[in-house]
Amino acid sequence: MSRKKLIAGNWKMNKNSAEAVALVAELVAVAGKQTDVEVVVCPPFTALEGVAAKLEGAEIRLGAQNMHPEKSGAYTGEISAEMLRALHATHVILGHSERRTYFGETDAFINKKTLAALKAELRPILCVGETLAEREGNQTLKVVQTQIEAGLDGVTKEQAAQLVIAYEPVWAIGTGKVATTAQAQEVHAFIRGLLVRLFGESVAGKIRILYGGSMKPSNAPELLAQPDIDGGLIGGASLEARSFLELITAAAAAK
Ligand code: PEP
Repeated sequence: MSRKKLIAGNWKMNKNSAEAVALVAELVAVAGKQTDVEVVVCPPFTALEGVAAKLEGAEIRLGAQNMHPEKSGAYTGEISAEMLRALHATHVILGHSERRTYFGETDAFINKKTLAALKAELRPILCVGETLAEREGNQTLKVVQTQIEAGLDGVTKEQAAQLVIAYEPVWAIGTGKVATTAQAQEVHAFIRGLLVRLFGESVAGKIRILYGGSMKPSNAPELLAQPDIDGGLIGGASLEARSFLELITAAAAAK
């Protein structure tokens, strides 16, 4: 089953709105018309509106980095799926390890967000991955299985084709340490098997599984050539147009 590669940039808490608009303008100028690779940028909330305006008419999608499961109400500091949709966002990163670690997000809370995002027709990019201690304790597959099964509880077969999964070993995020292609492919194939069990062969074959964790132009071609690695969720290397554009090129070459 051939899946279009997806390259998503997670800008995290970087770039004020003017800087974000300047970066996306560079991306649009070079890659705004290419359709070989699906491209998503996820700026901070404060830059979503400005970036959305720059993306009008371009083949680059807008994503958010988080959301709250409720539609509206007394949740100071939070943003809903409906608010993101109103800004023409199409994707939302959920369950990033930084949210799990620094903000105490549990699988149950991430599951609520996943269901709310799908209901609002936002595509979740659900992040899963093990810590170094878990890998060293041979717990990787068990941890990933729990995060996937709990995170996707209640998702229907019809909704599942909209999902994107990001396998991000926590020890590889922002550290410069990248998983070997064999380590990454092993977990991606395991996730594909879980998705087959949950949603059947045909739906599981459509779900993109991204690798995230220090992906950069030098290591991307080998990772992207693996049969179950359908793209990348990119942190550091998405903050400069040049490296992000090189990653889009690498994904196009790997298709
Ligand atoms: C991320 O935070 O999703 C990520 C993959 O970061 P980096 O590319 O910087 O490791």
